[in-house]
Amino acid sequence: MNITTTPTSFSVQRSRQVERLVRGQPTSDGDGVKLTRVLTQPLQKRLDPFLMLDAFGSDAASDYIGGFPSHPHRGFETVTIMLEGRMRHKDSVGNVGLLEPGSVQWMTAGRGIIHSEMPEQEEGRMAGFQLWVNLAAKDKMTAPAYRDVAPADVPVVTLDCGVKLRVIAGQARGVAGAVQRPTTEPLVLDIVLPAGQTFDAALPAGHNAFVYVYGGGVVTIGEGASARVESERMAILTNDATADGVRLKAETDARVLLVAGAPLNESIAQYGPFVMNTTAELQQAVSDFQRGALAA
Ligand code: MN
Repeated sequence: MNITTTPTSFSVQRSRQVERLVRGQPTSDGDGVKLTRVLTQPLQKRLDPFLMLDAFGSDAASDYIGGFPSHPHRGFETVTIMLEGRMRHKDSVGNVGLLEPGSVQWMTAGRGIIHSEMPEQEEGRMAGFQLWVNLAAKDKMTAPAYRDVAPADVPVVTLDCGVKLRVIAGQARGVAGAVQRPTTEPLVLDIVLPAGQTFDAALPAGHNAFVYVYGGGVVTIGEGASARVESERMAILTNDATADGVRLKAETDARVLLVAGAPLNESIAQYGPFVMNTTAELQQAVSDFQRGALAA
């Protein structure tokens, strides 16, 4: 369903700026999968409702072959954006899915899900992102849900200047994304920015937002000392009540993930794969998991 209709035009009147540049931390998760944790725990409050962003990308099978064997989650949503390679998903609800290049998996852990994400290849490149989106206290114990979005079902908007948007969640230029979520209203855009081109995105002033530049390019956002964002850097965008969006300008061909959402303004308590509001709720999650009741 690649969109061919004319997208709505939009010109930002006042752009957000770069508040801070963040270089991710190399780490490993699952069974030794090498990745870069871009959005780390100390940034959870600042980037509420987003809890984590991992970037992974490697040509070496040894960096990913262990995959993510069976593990639990409670209290939030995971969004897996596959760029290259194949991963097989299986979960305690009975869902089985194949994540292939260009696909998106949106999983609402809710009160509990146990799943595995294992590579379905023994060689070649594996690359993509996993984003964690918090659930409001009232939704943390909701029933788990899972959705695979095939590559052809991610709406694509191509602008006259050559800028291409994959609208994963929320909406852009009058085009609804593949996924809509209440309460946190996440916007997730995967943007192809040709060198010299500019893209203006509308952002609600109250939403927290960040940009992750990848694909080797360099992007300029607003003005000031931190305006130049190199590849594999996250730019946290300022919250400015008078700004109506953000202007991204590519210095060289770039790929950009633009993420924004409505903050929940609730307390955040995390213990590994569980994210709740209080320590008592975390203890309950661990105990439920240990006695086999988390995903029952
Ligand atoms: Mn997981």
